[in-house]
Amino acid sequence: LVNAIATQIGVALIQAEAYANLQDLNEQLEALDRTRSNLVAITGHELRTPLSTIQVCLESLATEPDMSPELRQVMLNTALQDAERMRKLVQDFLTLSQLESGRVEWNPEPLDLAECVELSLSHVRSRNRDGNLPNIQNLVTSDLPLIQADGEWLVEVLAKLLDNACKFTSPQGKVTIEVSRSYPTRLEVTVADTGRGIEPNRLETVFDRFYQEEGALRRSAGGTGLGLAICRQIVKGWGGEIWAESEGKDHGSQFHFTVPIFLDTIGQKTPTPESS
Ligand code: ADP
Repeated sequence: LVNAIATQIGVALIQAEAYANLQDLNEQLEALDRTRSNLVAITGHELRTPLSTIQVCLESLATEPDMSPELRQVMLNTALQDAERMRKLVQDFLTLSQLESGRVEWNPEPLDLAECVELSLSHVRSRNRDGNLPNIQNLVTSDLPLIQADGEWLVEVLAKLLDNACKFTSPQGKVTIEVSRSYPTRLEVTVADTGRGIEPNRLETVFDRFYQEEGALRRSAGGTGLGLAICRQIVKGWGGEIWAESEGKDHGSQFHFTVPIFLDTIGQKTPTPESS
């Protein structure tokens, strides 16, 4: 009888555990479903806004033959700008989902951080040919130990942080990039600006998908609101951390991320480029 009761209790416990697991799984699936619906709703909205503008512009161009050449040009430019915005949004969205679903092939290799910074600065400058950039000070020296990361993705993070720093800082302001701290196994890179700053309660939120301080309809600075979410996924890919600091509105911002130092097979730090 004791054995039978023990068996019954055992079966009941297993059933209860299975039920709890099933409930857990259900909750996880529901959470996933909520995230998916949110994402579809936000993406739909983000795409619909520029699409409506393009439609209005094209309709006006098609139905108003007497439109002045100046207004025609304005309509064309607006439609082109919004088409470019949609292209960028789709591209960023695909990159982010690729990163989030783990479908990215990482090719980590020993890299000279100073070279990667130079490359990202050249991307930033070529995208801003109108010369309205703030003063950019590059303090990353070439005597640092080599780092271990995927070069293409690293340049993407650096360029995105530099682009943002320039975008949210007036041409009279200053942007600095430096290695702010060196630990035995990683470097901390900082992109700092003297621009408009970030409220303390937004320092985490800025890394959320589609977060933009201006909201969806008043995007004076352009962008897709996906850049920092992409950066966070990339940095996570090499096991690093990324975070923002700011003294608040109009007091500038600092974005920091860590990247591993390349250790050779016997676990030694690589010699610096000068000493090798
Ligand atoms: P995007 O730049 O395309 O809007 P991001 O994901 O790169 O998207 O940035 C999200 C938001 O975080 C920005 O819209 C802005 O509100 C804020 N932000 C990012 N970088 C800075 C910065 N250097 N200074 C002030 N605000 C920033």
